[in-house]
Amino acid sequence: MPVGTQATVKALTPGDLRAAGAQIILSNTYHLNLRPTAERIARLGGLHRFMAWDGPILTDSGGFQVFSLAKLRRVDDDGVTFTSHIDGSEHRLTPERAMEIQALLGSDIAMVLDQLVDPGLPAEDVRVAMERTHRWAARSLAARGDATQAVFGIVQGGVDPELRRESASVIAALPFDGIAVGGLSVGESKDQMAATLDVVAEGLHDDPRPRYLMGVGSPADFFSAVEHGIDLFDCVLPTRVARTGQVWTDAGRLNLRNSGFLDDPEPIDPACGCETCRTHSRAYLAHLFRAEELLAYRLATVHNVTWTLTLLARLRAALGDGSFTALRAAMVEAFGREAGTDAV
Ligand SMILES: [Zn+2]
Repeated sequence: MPVGTQATVKALTPGDLRAAGAQIILSNTYHLNLRPTAERIARLGGLHRFMAWDGPILTDSGGFQVFSLAKLRRVDDDGVTFTSHIDGSEHRLTPERAMEIQALLGSDIAMVLDQLVDPGLPAEDVRVAMERTHRWAARSLAARGDATQAVFGIVQGGVDPELRRESASVIAALPFDGIAVGGLSVGESKDQMAATLDVVAEGLHDDPRPRYLMGVGSPADFFSAVEHGIDLFDCVLPTRVARTGQVWTDAGRLNLRNSGFLDDPEPIDPACGCETCRTHSRAYLAHLFRAEELLAYRLATVHNVTWTLTLLARLRAALGDGSFTALRAAMVEAFGREAGTDAV
């Protein structure tokens, strides 16, 4: 899922997203509810109409941003009080309000409110947050409004295998439409992430519901996650790094700000079919970035989103034709093992 934080995948139109092969996008409840507010978007016909995207939309609950961006948080069993990072105004988010906001936005998939904690905290603190997340999950289901909106539960528990096992079993026992794995890509090691996915995959074994790994990933992260049964990802990296001039190709990352590209007539990636690669040279992009021309952001983002979604399509095909290991080795060679993302 390309990430459309403020009801826009930065620099792209809905037409760009469709051309890139996007089947679903993610939007952020925290940001939209502070500005322009969920009530205003509802009055304007809902998020699909507001941003003119007629494909599926998944909204997060806002919890991740509350726990990573907002200031002066107070968490209690009922919910969390925080001050806006925009104007310092005070807000209250409860499991019920998170569901209400997402119903107002009219997304296709709503996420439950969960409590994110630093996985480095003592196990007892991680347990308290996890058990609260479980109680909030049940309350979210009870508050579920529009029956056509799917609701996904979130497995938490930090990087403690016992807690993760318990969380997977509690969340899987509830009648959610899908299961998400939260609290990863927040500073833990790659090995801790893989070990956590092992435990969750074991706990969910043959559960047929879609599985969503939140906030991951980079080209090298997809393979291990898919191996652990993950179906769905969201990540700001492809769009965020594009705006700095970093583009992704089968040969790895290129930084278009490097002066070496100023005379390079080749497309970013000769194998890529996106509008940018069909039309423009690396030299042109390198020039646009140096001149700080706005078109640079769109062209680089069109490429990175197209390339990433194409990689996922190739990965899906590779599962069927036995070339998964070869594709994985090629991507690890090109991209190495990369650190996760931070808050949006
Ligand atoms: Zn391209």
